[in-house]
Parts: sequence; C-alpha cells; structure tokens
Amino acid sequence: MKLLTAWKQVLLTMTSEDLVPVYFCDKCRVARSSYLIKLLEGELSFCSHHYNENKEALDKKAYEVIDLNKVEDKVPQLIEKAV
Ligand SMILES: [Zn+2]
Repeated sequence: MKLLTAWKQVLLTMTSEDLVPVYFCDKCRVARSSYLIKLLEGELSFCSHHYNENKEALDKKAYEVIDLNKVEDKVPQLIEKAV
C-alpha cells in the first residue's frame, strides 16, 4: 500500500520532460542532441550538425548510435479523439 502511494506520487509529479531525457550536443553545448553515440569508453551526444561532421570517425568507434528524434516519435502521445 505504501509502495502504491509512492508510485501515485511519482505519476502525479512526472512531466513530459521526465519521459524524454534531454541531451545537449557535447561539441557545441547549445544545440539539442539528435544522436546518442555509445562508445566502449562512454556516451557522447551530438546535434545532427556535429554528428554528421564526425560521422566517419564515430561510426568506426561506436557500437550503437541512437537517433534521439526517432525515439521521441515513438513516445505515445495522448490524442483526443472526437467521438
Ligand atoms: Zn553541436
């Protein structure tokens, strides 16, 4: 019962910002990242501009490249349907 109350509190205080983590480009630090690059040494995130600029080198080292925009598209949106 205690756990359920805690979860209810989490759900009530959650915003859409909590569901979609925001990454900023590791190179320019201003642009929102479009790609999350997973390397054995850690993670890097780049805006599409800087990802494309370093794509060749990153593709060689990365074991996974996540398209963050694609992930956002998959987040279910609440759409009000007219009945
Ligand atoms: Zn950038």
